[in-house]
Amino acid sequence: GRSFRPEGTTVTFPNGVVVGGKEVVVMAGPCSVESREQILTSAKQVAAAGAKFLRGGAFKPRSSPYSFQGMGLDGLKLLRDVSDETGLLVITEVMEISQIELMLPYIDCFQVGARNMQNFNLLRELGHVRKPVLMKRGISATIEEVLLSAEYILSGGNYNLMLCERGIRTYETYTRNTMDISAIPVLKKLTHLPVLGDPSHGVGIRDLVPPMALASVAAGADGLLMEMHPNPDKAMSDGAQSLYPEQLQKLMAQLKLLAPVV
Ligand code: PEP
Ligand code: MN
Repeated sequence: GRSFRPEGTTVTFPNGVVVGGKEVVVMAGPCSVESREQILTSAKQVAAAGAKFLRGGAFKPRSSPYSFQGMGLDGLKLLRDVSDETGLLVITEVMEISQIELMLPYIDCFQVGARNMQNFNLLRELGHVRKPVLMKRGISATIEEVLLSAEYILSGGNYNLMLCERGIRTYETYTRNTMDISAIPVLKKLTHLPVLGDPSHGVGIRDLVPPMALASVAAGADGLLMEMHPNPDKAMSDGAQSLYPEQLQKLMAQLKLLAPVV
């Protein structure tokens, strides 16, 4: 609850980046790591836009078992290499307990995906590491369920936790999900944890991402997690919701009119 730390929790990363502080922290990159060239180009574009984290899945939770499943360990190594080269931090998804140890040397932040928000064994294990975790809201999770899942991690002693609204499933099908902007101020009120918005999965349509990113920050988000791809039309996953590099650049400038952004 918020009363545990009325001033709010901040999560500090190795290079001094703080989430939950005064600045809005932007994490951007492709849905999946696809090749050295793709992730290096992405990292350069993300760094040039002024964002601090490179995102990219190496382990991908795909709806179809026949879709691209990610590059695995090779993807983690590429993420680390290109992030060191461009001065970025790495956030990437962990899907199961056995991946935690494997990932530790390569990453700066674990991402728990929407599909694993109620993988309680995974959450419990992430409570035993001290590396930061960003936990996404489940696809149809209530706020109470989000809070209880967060407790699985916090109760293990890992307070380096951030929450993320990424859209929920509703009766509306025009957008991929319904971005519940209200979840941001609700979670900020109920918890001491930093809250981020992921407008990419929130709406699933590239041109709707910038307005929902702005709305997230206006609603009090401490950061944004967004998909950007050097060539979205060729992306192996989530191309339709991935920003063009120029869109990210422009959005960063717009966000700065609302809040200090890094
Ligand atoms: C992702 O970030 O690429 C992802 C799979 O997100 P989510 O878990 O929110 O669907
Ligand atoms: Mn994705």
